[in-house]
Amino acid sequence: MSRVVYMDNNATTRVAPEVLEEMLPYFSDLYGNPSSMHSFGGQVGAKINQAREKIAALLGARPEELIFTSCGTESDSTAILSALQSLPGKHHIVTTRVEHPAVKNLVENLDGLTGHKHRLTKLPVDRDGTLDLKQYEESLTDETAIVSVMWANNETGVVFPIAEMAAIAKSRGIFFHTDAVQAVGKVPIDLASVPVDFLSLSGHKLHAPKGIGVLYARKGTPFVPFMVGGHQERGRRGGTENVASIIGLGKACELAAAKMEEENSRVRALRDKLEKDLLAQVPHSMRNGHETQRLPNTASISFEFVEGESILLHLDRYGICASSGSACTSGSLEPSHVLRAMGVPFTAAHGSIRFSLSIYNTEEEVDYVVSKVPQIIADLREMSPFWQSEHRGRTGQSQCKCVC
Ligand SMILES: *Cc1c(COP(=O)(O)O)cnc(C)c1O
Repeated sequence: MSRVVYMDNNATTRVAPEVLEEMLPYFSDLYGNPSSMHSFGGQVGAKINQAREKIAALLGARPEELIFTSCGTESDSTAILSALQSLPGKHHIVTTRVEHPAVKNLVENLDGLTGHKHRLTKLPVDRDGTLDLKQYEESLTDETAIVSVMWANNETGVVFPIAEMAAIAKSRGIFFHTDAVQAVGKVPIDLASVPVDFLSLSGHKLHAPKGIGVLYARKGTPFVPFMVGGHQERGRRGGTENVASIIGLGKACELAAAKMEEENSRVRALRDKLEKDLLAQVPHSMRNGHETQRLPNTASISFEFVEGESILLHLDRYGICASSGSACTSGSLEPSHVLRAMGVPFTAAHGSIRFSLSIYNTEEEVDYVVSKVPQIIADLREMSPFWQSEHRGRTGQSQCKCVC
């Protein structure tokens, strides 16, 4: 295969070589069931407990507060449905307009799933993608069962003030869940001092495999299982453990703790260089998301008057992997709900690209991307109806051509 420059780490990450190595014996010789009475299975159970301790250490949690799930989405669903079942008289949920579909599509469909009518407050964000804490506080009522707010946004990297928000919910006796899938491993998290009840994370966003997630459920917080079956996970999640992936996730968390400093210095510097060079070299381009309250690895950049999908196709020809801030739905290009919530202008939201880096990226790769993007944008603008109409002085939302 020709060259791949992978800058789509908020979509998924490569499995770290150290993680794969740690997992391999559990696909071959060490295939015991951790629940078995014999020591052949028992040694697997002991290894799972070691992994649980490593993950707890990264989060500042206790090992017994962690429940292994199949993915971030399952963790999100489990937390929110558990809270609603623990407080059967309360039907108000507070969340934001910029949540990942794993939370967004769940809370929008709760009435059908639970048979109860729910009231949903989706907090708005400003042009930088940040929340108004006063507005948040005012949204909480005696009917509120749970607040679900992501720690860091997957599209822009914007980080929310989860410690303050969780403390406010706690003082009102309201459950607080945070989807921390993008935050874990990238920013320090200490659940000993951040009073969330529930936190979701996903292995494949921090160099562990796909198909393994964790739900943190604080000791003392009532919990209702989502998957009922065997006694695994202390009866909180039935089903034989995804042993190799759990062990891989333990290793990935250990590595993340060791490399957090690099993420926040070297990776941040690469991201800043990429962003600075692209904004300087491409006219009519802008950053999406707060400049500093942001993950160190994420750059969301809008290139006005071009379509994100077209940019991605051209980047792909050079082996560059990134994401766009729009999704093809029913034949039209719909800008992402995140960028719309931030009030990014239509012509800019359409041409937004998310570059998300990892510790495996190099400066040479950044320079390679910067050497390709400006020409791609210039060529596309030559053909763009948006660009043409702008130059003819027309206004309004032209029809876009979609390549779905
Ligand atoms: C990727 C992601 C998820 C979903 O995680 P899966 O393990 O793929 O189910 C949820 N929330 C955020 C913020 C994500 O980035």
